[in-house]
Amino acid sequence: MTLIRRQSKAKGSRGTQERTRNLSITIRVPLERSPTMPADFTYETYKALLEACKRQGIETLTVREYLAAEGLPDRFVILRHDVDRKPENALDFARMEAEYDATSTYYVRTVDETFDPWLLDSLESLGHEVGYHYEDVDRTDGDIKAAHRSFQRHLARMRAHVTVDTVCMHGNPLTPHDNRDMWGEMPDFDQYDLLGEAYLSVDFTDVLYFSDTGRTWRDGALKIKDHTVGEDGKDVQVGTTAELIDLVRRREDSYCLLTHPDRWAGGTVEYVAETAFDTAKNVAKYGLHVVPSR
Ligand SMILES: [Zn+2]
Repeated sequence: MTLIRRQSKAKGSRGTQERTRNLSITIRVPLERSPTMPADFTYETYKALLEACKRQGIETLTVREYLAAEGLPDRFVILRHDVDRKPENALDFARMEAEYDATSTYYVRTVDETFDPWLLDSLESLGHEVGYHYEDVDRTDGDIKAAHRSFQRHLARMRAHVTVDTVCMHGNPLTPHDNRDMWGEMPDFDQYDLLGEAYLSVDFTDVLYFSDTGRTWRDGALKIKDHTVGEDGKDVQVGTTAELIDLVRRREDSYCLLTHPDRWAGGTVEYVAETAFDTAKNVAKYGLHVVPSR
């Protein structure tokens, strides 16, 4: 069931109007443009980020490469994507990355909208890793034993097409569960012949984690389930992609970057629609009641 009914309508270049089932809202959505950067969360901005990483000599790693490495490069970026919907955008990202000789990991949900053997095969053929974006605790409404059976079944479905060595939970803000709960205190990934889980197996004490959830790179209330687990050495925040690029240039850190290709737009129409969709979703997450402005 979709909570938010989309009826977006562009209002010039200044904003968009959204209506949801429970509340009627008008929100100004500024197009985040600067003289030197294209609008944020567009393909052009993602390319600028890839370009900046390449120029700084930062090696890109898949999650598999990171977990299997005997020794890590001095400076690296783990590129990770969640394919929640709009699989065609994932393929666009995979092609852009291939242009920049970057490899990344695509965690694909096994729901009808995204599970497409041709897509899985195409992502892998472009040199990327494909992993299982699991949501089995949600699927079984918190029954952990049943979640493991479901996990095994869906993992096998994906492995029929591609090599799956790592997995990553899907964080649905509308369910009361955390899909990572199926692993308990001592995760045993060997039982599924897996190297690890993207949130649970990465050492975030020396890898800075940034995610685009909520259409900002900044940590905060919008990232309800999207947060690292365990110790975290993060000492800096950025909001826009331009700020992230600036950080990449200024400091010597290594990163894990999560992007949702479905939130990034290839053109103006998609940009306006996706920005409106995210704004409405953010309003729902905050539980805000916004009074119409007219
Ligand atoms: Zn997801």
